[in-house]
This record gives sequence, structure tokens and C-alpha cells, in this order.
Amino acid sequence: MSGKPTTRLTKLGRTLDRDGQSVNPPVYRASTFVFGSLAAFDKASATPFDTPFYGRVGTPTSFAFEEAMADLEGAARAIAYPSGLAAIAAVLHAFVEAGDHVLMVDSVYGPSRRTCETSLRRLGVETSYFDPATGAEIADLIRPNTRLIFLESPGSGTFEVQDIPAITRIAREKGIWTALDATWATPLYLKPLALGVDVSIHAATKYITGHSDAMLGVASMTAEAEPHVRRATQALGYVAGSEEANLGLRGLRTLGVRLPRHDASARRIAGWLASRDEVSRVFHPALPGTAGHDCWARDFTGASGLFSFEFADISKPGFAAFVDGLEHFLVGFSWGGYESLALPVHTEQRSAPPWGSDRPVLRLHIGLEDPDDLIDDLSRGFDRAKTAS
Ligand SMILES: *Cc1c(COP(=O)(O)O)cnc(C)c1O
Repeated sequence: MSGKPTTRLTKLGRTLDRDGQSVNPPVYRASTFVFGSLAAFDKASATPFDTPFYGRVGTPTSFAFEEAMADLEGAARAIAYPSGLAAIAAVLHAFVEAGDHVLMVDSVYGPSRRTCETSLRRLGVETSYFDPATGAEIADLIRPNTRLIFLESPGSGTFEVQDIPAITRIAREKGIWTALDATWATPLYLKPLALGVDVSIHAATKYITGHSDAMLGVASMTAEAEPHVRRATQALGYVAGSEEANLGLRGLRTLGVRLPRHDASARRIAGWLASRDEVSRVFHPALPGTAGHDCWARDFTGASGLFSFEFADISKPGFAAFVDGLEHFLVGFSWGGYESLALPVHTEQRSAPPWGSDRPVLRLHIGLEDPDDLIDDLSRGFDRAKTAS
């Protein structure tokens, strides 16, 4: 598909060459596709992931979403999943067998770590965690049985940006697969495959669907990685629902206008927080103090609306008063919608190295509200915290 990214977002996954068709592709709700002859059935069975064959391997709606994502990511292939974590679980199971080792960044999304510590561990696969500041020194952590390096940039909760090309260069030299959770950046602001990553993963639940009303994941990959990921996906029985795939496709249409607004508001609010005495640190990849900021400036073309900050000195009741009284930021997990959210960050999960501070860290998702209203809201929160402390 030609054109700049925002133009392509309006066209990808659509059929553009017919008269009298709806703008949007129809939503196919299907378990069974039927065939009038054995020959037609056999023909379809040769391309089950591209043309209708059986609902569990996809419908024309999920194929359209996958085609759009593969184009945006510069990937040979994309596969849709029923959630972001399902995409991660499929990729984690794709490349390893008993006795293998996985290297995972310590700032990874908590449930990704949990999949390693439960399912992979039971399969006899060991995972070790590395400092997100690790670049080419990853070479020292690689063992003879290391099969996969799992990255997430920026990291969940604390937003360290990794040196992706330094790591993928070494992984390729040693024949080790790499996967990267790129949910924060969306396919617009980071191109993991162009930086040498084999599989790029998105929780499309977040910005891609963009309205907090669907669970959806997607993995985009090289031609070499596809058979491995496909095998794991089939073995695990994952399939994205057509309604959700359609919401993902619909979300892509407006991603190019939503994200710059999230970005501008979040940078403004992050800067405002950094100027407050009540705040000791702001973790936003576009702010120079944040770990890996230089890598962000080199590899990313924008920032989204999710970041966190650390309170300088606040009591437990003060923290509760800050959060509980917020008008525009309610407490909730799944960011990337139009609404602002707040969530405490569990820094005690970190091990490489331990986080080293017990000051509360609060993650904010900056939605599409007017940023002046959000700043007023947070400002009143600091007043409440002072009164309650
Ligand atoms: C939310 C999230 C996921 C998981 O996505 P779900 O659709 O909730 O399963 C994975 N990675 C990151 C970075 C996330 O924020």
C-alpha cells in the first residue's frame, strides 16, 4: 500500500476496487465455511490462513485486520489473538522446548512474567530477567541454551527504553529469536521489525481499538518466524473474534488523529508534574531524565499518552486522598482508550536490579479530555494529599 502512514490507516484491509460496496468490510461471524465439492474444500485447505476455511483459523474480518497490521509493521505476516496476553503466550510458546532458556527484560508487563513463571517453567523452560539498561552487554547473559530474548520498550510502569538494535544485532549473530511488546508505541511510533526484531506484539486492546470496549492482540513477524508462531497458535487454540477484529480495524482508521493528541497532552502534563515539588521523578520516555531517553529519541517517532511519576514524600492516607478524589482519572487497568486513568505501579516485582525505592509510583493514562482540566484535577489532588498527610 502506498502513501504516508495516516493515509494508509484509512485504506488498509479494505477492498477498494468495487462499485456499490460499503466503506467498511462486512463483519463475518462464522464457525463454519461450507464448500460444494471435495475439490473446493481441498483447495481452501491449502490456504487456511488467507481464505475462509474454518472459523478457528480466521474469517475475512480477521484476515483484513491481520493484513492491515502486517503492512503497518513491515511484516511478512500478522496473526490476531483474543487478547494481548494471548499473543504474548503464543510467542513465548513458539520458540522453546524443555531445557531451553529465555531472557526477558525486567521491566516487562507483569502477566508476561507470570506466563514464564507458570507455563514455561512447567514445560522445563527457565527464564532469567535482565536490567532494561542492558544493550550489547546482553552477550554476557546469553547461555548455550538461550532461544528467545523478550523485550518490551518502553517497559511497563517505569518506561525504560531499551537499545533494541544493539540487542537484536547480537541475537541475530547467535541465532536467537527476539520478540518485542510494542503496545505503548503502537505501529505508528515504532517499527520493531526494521530494528531487527523477529516478532512485534501489540495489545490491540489498548490504542488500536482505542475505546476500551474490546480485548484483542496481534503479533507481526518475519517469514522465518511465522511457522513457529503459527504452530503454537494452533496448538493453543487461540482465535480473535470477528467482532473484535473489526473493532481493531475500525480503531486503526482514527489512530493517526488520536495518538498525536494523547502525545501532546501527556507531554504537557508530564512536564507540569516534573515542575512540582511533590514529585521526585517523572518516567516519560520523551523527558530527558528517563532511562533510555536517547534510545527513544533515536528509534521512536512519537510518544503515546501513558507514563508514571514518583511522589517525593507522601503518606498512605495522602496517596489515597490524591487518587480517590480525582474527577477525570478513575482507577483501571486497560489504557489506550479516550479516557484518562490512574493506577499504582508495583515496583516491588522488579528483580534486575530491585527497584530500590518504596516511594509510591502512579501510572497515568492521559486521555482525550482537555489537558487544562486534567492539570486542575491533579493539582487539586496534591492539595488533598497535603491536607490528609
Ligand atoms: C495490556 C497489556 C498487555 C496485555 O493485553 P491484554 O489485551 O490486556 O491481554 C500486554 N502488554 C502490555 C504492555 C500491556 O499494557
